[in-house]
Parts: sequence; structure tokens; C-alpha cells
Amino acid sequence: MKKILVTGGAGFLGSHLCERLLNEGNEVVCLDNYFTGQKTNVVHLLDNPYFELIRHDVTMPFFIEVDEIYNLACPASPVHYQYNPIKTVKTSVLGAVNMLGLAKRIKAKILQASTSEVYGDPQIHPQTESYWGHVNPIGERACYDEGKRAAETLFVNYHRQNNVRIKIIRIFNTYGPKMHPNDGRVVSNFIVQALQGKDITVYGDGSQSRSFCYYSDLLDGMMRLMNTGDDFTGPVNVGNPNEFTILELAEKVIRLTGSSSKIVWKPLPSDDPTQRQPDISLAKSKLGWEPKVELEEGLIKTIEFFKTIVK
Ligand code: NAD
Ligand code: UDP
Repeated sequence: MKKILVTGGAGFLGSHLCERLLNEGNEVVCLDNYFTGQKTNVVHLLDNPYFELIRHDVTMPFFIEVDEIYNLACPASPVHYQYNPIKTVKTSVLGAVNMLGLAKRIKAKILQASTSEVYGDPQIHPQTESYWGHVNPIGERACYDEGKRAAETLFVNYHRQNNVRIKIIRIFNTYGPKMHPNDGRVVSNFIVQALQGKDITVYGDGSQSRSFCYYSDLLDGMMRLMNTGDDFTGPVNVGNPNEFTILELAEKVIRLTGSSSKIVWKPLPSDDPTQRQPDISLAKSKLGWEPKVELEEGLIKTIEFFKTIVK
């Protein structure tokens, strides 16, 4: 039985990950400050004697004995990471320093939840891991993008300098049940708006694209990465390469919910990437991974979830 620490474990992806790791027979410690996550995401796990929930902020040091660390703590939605941008940088950078320091001390393997945002507004398409990205260091998304880039730098240097066993996954837009209804990201926004019969808010002209991955596929890739040999550190893209415009997504959500909602147009936020699509050749060859759940199937399951919580 492995003992595994999941930071950000009460969030959308973290809570699913805690559940998966427990189901696979591990002991799990979930650490979260509940900024965008919530206890209700993991409350059903509290009866499990192999699950522990701790309120803690990763910007402060934390000590524990574990075999593996999944470092997911960081707000992921633009609305929430821009709410307190200084705190977002601290969470990524100090969080990485604290967790890497812990991993070094206890000789644990550590995985960083990085992001396609390290590519910024990409000028090559699809994005391969060898692309260095196109990020505005002083823009409104920089607190997240540059924070995650600095975290990757810390990870590779703890590996080179101190032989810490690291894994870096670059996650592309992932959605699914347990996203918070006020999360602010596009899939949950559109579904909640459609179910409530409210206007669907498309930012800009809706021609910008994203490639949407269902959470179960993403977690498969993440756990496979953690279990690769120590010589493979990543970074590796994990996401679904099927690309859609935001307008196409809005139309799909309206159709699949049978909603009478109308599309309204809102200003495009600054530095909003115009296109995003993962090249997953590396994940295929190194992890033997590719996504299985296509957008409509994943949307239907996510809509079913939101129907149970949205009034
Ligand atoms: P989320 O906002 O639901 O989860 C983040 C969790 O981290 C929340 O539970 C939050 O309370 C916690 N957290 C934030 N700051 C913290 C701090 N200082 N100390 C302790 N806990 C803190 O988002 P998510 O979609 O589940 O994302 C999980 C991770 O995956 C994040 O690191 C995110 O950057 C990364 N990621 C997600 C996506 C995606 O599409 N879902 C894409 C790229 C990267
Ligand atoms: N978006 C939108 N309406 C919304 C929320 C988001 O049109 O209510 C757009 C946003 O401008 C971006 C895309 O959807 O182009 C994805 O946004 P999200 O916040 O989900 O993630 P991002 O990939 O931008 O970090």
C-alpha cells in the first residue's frame, strides 16, 4: 500500500484523483485550503480509514511521510486565478518550493499539474512539448501562466541538482462532473446557463478554439505518468486533440440540454489564446495513453451531474 499526498485534493480533478487512488488500494492524504475546492467533493471519502483530509495552504511548509505527491493545488479558472494574482503566483511558486523540498527530504516521487497555458497564445499548432510558448509576462493571465512556468523550472532543477524524482504533466482543458457551478470555466458556465434558461455568454466572436478532455481520460494519463520509470520526467501533454470553437461548444450544449437559452456576445478577455490543441504523440509513445471519451459523450455525463445540483 502506497501513501500518497494530493495537494488541491478537494478541487475538481483532485477529488476524483483521491477517489481513484483509494480505489486502487492506496492510502491518501488530501490537502487543500478550500479556495476553489470544497469539502463536499470529498465528504463521501471521509469514512474510509485510509483517507485523511487536512486544511493547509501550500504556500506554507508542510511535513509528512509519503511515497508520492501529486501537486494540484492552484486555482485553475481564469476568474479565480485573477481574483488575487499575487496569491496565485505564490501558490504555484512557493507551493512548488515547499512540495519539492518535502519530496527531496522524504525521497518521494512528485508530479506537477502543469498546463497548456505554458504555451500562452501559441504560434504553432498543435502544440508539442518542444514548443517554448508565447506568454505575455505582464498580462492578466501571467500570474497563472508564469507561475506554472516557474514551477516547471523549479521541478526540473530539483531533479537536476538534487535527483528528486519528478513528473510534469501539461493538462489541456479538462471538464466533467464535480466542477463547481461557479467555477467560471467555459464548459461549466455554458451548461449551468443552459440548464437555468439563462443567456449563454460567448466571449469574443466564439471563433477561438479549445480541445476538451473528459476528466477520467485525464486522470488515466496522470496516473500512468506517475507510474512510468524514473528516467521519464516529462513534460508531457495530456489532453484530447479534438478541437472545437467556443461557438461550436455553445451550440452543442444548447442542443444536448434541449435548452431555449440564446447566445449573447461578451468582450473577449485580454490575452485569451486564439487556439489550443495538444500534440499527444509523446503521451501515446511514453504512457501508452490516448483519450477515449469524446466531447458529446462527456458533455452528456457532465450535464447529468449539473442537473442534480443546479436549480
Ligand atoms: P480546481 O480549482 O477545482 O482545484 C484546485 C484546488 O487547489 C482547489 O481545491 C483549491 O482549493 C486548491 N488550492 C488553491 N490554492 C491552494 C493553496 N494555496 N493551498 C492549498 N490548496 C489550494 O481546479 P482543477 O481543474 O481541479 O485543477 C487542478 C490542477 O490542475 C491545478 O493545478 C490546475 O492548474 C491544473 N490544470 C487543470 C486544468 C483543467 O482543465 N481542469 C488544465 C490545466 C491545468
Ligand atoms: N469563454 C466563453 N464564455 C464563458 C467562459 C469562457 O466564451 O462563459 C471562453 C474563453 O474566453 C476562452 C474559452 O472559453 O476563449 C475557454 O475558457 P476557460 O476559462 O474555460 O479556459 P482557458 O482555456 O481560457 O483557460
